[in-house]
Amino acid sequence: METVIIETGNQQGIRESVSLAVDYLEKGSIVALPTETVYGLAANALDAKACAKIFEAKERPEFDPLIVHVSGEKMLRTIADIPEQIEATLSTLINEFWPGALTFILPKKEIVPEIVTSGLDTVAVRRSKNPIFAEIINTFELPIAAPSANRFGSISPTSANAVLSELSGKVPLIIDGGACSEGVESTIIKIESVTGRKKPSIQILRPGPVTPEMLKKFGKIEKNPKSKTSSKEPTSPGQLDSHYAPITPLRIVSSPDTFTPEPSKKYALLSYRGQKKDGYLELCEWVQIETLSPGSGKLPEAAVRFFFALRKLDQLGVDEIISEPIPERGIGLAIMDRLKRASHKYS
Ligand code: AMP
Ligand code: MG
Repeated sequence: METVIIETGNQQGIRESVSLAVDYLEKGSIVALPTETVYGLAANALDAKACAKIFEAKERPEFDPLIVHVSGEKMLRTIADIPEQIEATLSTLINEFWPGALTFILPKKEIVPEIVTSGLDTVAVRRSKNPIFAEIINTFELPIAAPSANRFGSISPTSANAVLSELSGKVPLIIDGGACSEGVESTIIKIESVTGRKKPSIQILRPGPVTPEMLKKFGKIEKNPKSKTSSKEPTSPGQLDSHYAPITPLRIVSSPDTFTPEPSKKYALLSYRGQKKDGYLELCEWVQIETLSPGSGKLPEAAVRFFFALRKLDQLGVDEIISEPIPERGIGLAIMDRLKRASHKYS
């Protein structure tokens, strides 16, 4: 299969790409689309055969369910049942964060094929704020399943070229909407009412751009109790210990004095602020240094550059990628979560 990248460019270009993407979705094909988090590999969420193509292209195991995108609350209600006890909180969160990088786990309706939810009785739902994606789903008028457009377990793509290097020959069409504005995957939450308590509990199943700080006024934040369990755990499948991994071994060095380079080895550095005073820049002769947020260190900027930088360092053919730790606050929590999983395979 040949993979075509369509650049959207001006208004006319956007209109043409939108209608082409919708044609592909309508004929049951997969297509890679930009979202504000990472690029998604999209298919009609109500068409089991089309969704099977996502699993096939990504080589994704069937126990790992897909996120379903909707155009708004009305479409959400066609695929999910909203328990009365959480209705008010859900509606407040939707008003506050949609469109945006917040995914809700909700009881699924029968109409959602089993393959989408890996047989679970819940479905993950979000609404993207990427204008091209929004235009596509508004025109298509059906929910779109779209997990990250990378091979399973590998680095998430934040540009059309990154999708191409992941899925060339496996997807017929990539819509190039430029670089993703958030850079890490959506925050996934589950809301549960607690008897005797006014505020519900909000379980963060995957940290992302919508941070615990942003969510805490809407409920009591609980970190996913299952997030540290085995990769076979079906209720928290995205929480696989090893994920987002480069081919090159990756190690997080929590303090510069704990790293002793081996003379025969070649290393690259993933630096947070690229500052000498942090103690990493002169630890060895780095083949390359990628800095996530040069200067003072801004976490949203670091998130946008993160997968892009990791992918760049992975192409150097060094023996090991060394990463500085990222401050675990705000979106830094999500970056560290990805870094830890990216390094897990090698620890
Ligand atoms: P991605 O490949 O980044 O789009 O991630 C999809 C992830 O969403 C999965 O790996 C799961 O972690 C999560 N997910 C999807 N559906 C469910 C569900 N019903 N329950 C819990 N997590 C889910
Ligand atoms: Mg993914």
